[in-house]
Amino acid sequence: MNEILILEKVIKKYGNVTALNVERLGIEQGTYNVILGPSGAGKSTLLRTVAGLDYPDSGKIILDGKDITNKPAWERDIGLVFQNYALYPHLTVYDNIALPLTVKGFKKEEISERVMQIVKVMGIEEHINKYPRQLSGGQQQRVALARAIIKQPKLLLLDEPLSNLDAKVRVELRSYLKTIQRQLNITALHVTHDQSEAMAIADNLVVLNGGAVDQVGSPKDIYENPKTVFVSTFIGMLNIIPASTFRINDGYDAVGFRPENADIFEDDGDISGTVKYVEYQGEETIVYIAVGDNTVRIRDRQSRFFESGKKVNIKIKKAFAFKDGKVVKSILF
Ligand code: ADP
Ligand code: MG
Repeated sequence: MNEILILEKVIKKYGNVTALNVERLGIEQGTYNVILGPSGAGKSTLLRTVAGLDYPDSGKIILDGKDITNKPAWERDIGLVFQNYALYPHLTVYDNIALPLTVKGFKKEEISERVMQIVKVMGIEEHINKYPRQLSGGQQQRVALARAIIKQPKLLLLDEPLSNLDAKVRVELRSYLKTIQRQLNITALHVTHDQSEAMAIADNLVVLNGGAVDQVGSPKDIYENPKTVFVSTFIGMLNIIPASTFRINDGYDAVGFRPENADIFEDDGDISGTVKYVEYQGEETIVYIAVGDNTVRIRDRQSRFFESGKKVNIKIKKAFAFKDGKVVKSILF
């Protein structure tokens, strides 16, 4: 274990809003970490305090063993990528990428060598003499990425780097990001509100809720073993029904289950419901079923179609039991 970045008791307030309140967060060297949370959860504030664009009111930030809490941004060994590319429009791609080295006074030959090396790795060689406006959004973001990593920073911070791109480019670029990160053994901290992006790319997910870290873990661990109601509903789909609707009733507030963790039967089952409608999605259908006052979604791998109004029964295979906002038990049937 080698934690390259540690946040300890970091608190940041704006007036009476606590934007960030992190008890402890450790980031392993060479891993891809995604900070995930809804709008206003404190994701950008976290990234900005690590970057030195903002300072915490209290707490400590340690980078590679050194306390950087009060260091200015330019003294931190960090690369930054934002949503809006932030390239210099009057500079060519080459000069944009070279800039961090130019301002540091690197020799011309060394700059050229490093720029050519990075554009090759990034697959943007053919664009080096163009200006940003001559590039697509996805290409511009590759240039921004190259500029952020040319100094080989200890940490790469990305704030919603894919959010300005259209869906197809977004998916392309996210696998590209992961490939580059692996290839160059970068430690990345990537902020997004998009859970499918987060799941796809993260070694490690950090789920933020109201400025605090709700849960940290691999996407699979968090999906399968969420610790709070917030995490269980924010990551993936979850159906929630009152505990009284279901046969287990040990003082739980409610019971939640994933669409793939239940089956639909025409005769027997644990819970009865009425089909509202069916969404056809190719290899599966999502069947919306009214259960009491709730609507639950069930994934049907046989892609069956059910008429609206049809009475069906549901058997649950795995459920989470909730009490006071926490998942207190995971139950297999
Ligand atoms: P996210 O990036 O997850 O959407 P932010 O970190 O931007 O969230 O914001 C967290 C909270 O802090 C929000 O309630 C936001 O309104 C508040 N906040 C962020 N920056 C400022 C600021 N400069 N001044 C006042 N409030 C801010
Ligand atoms: Mg933000």
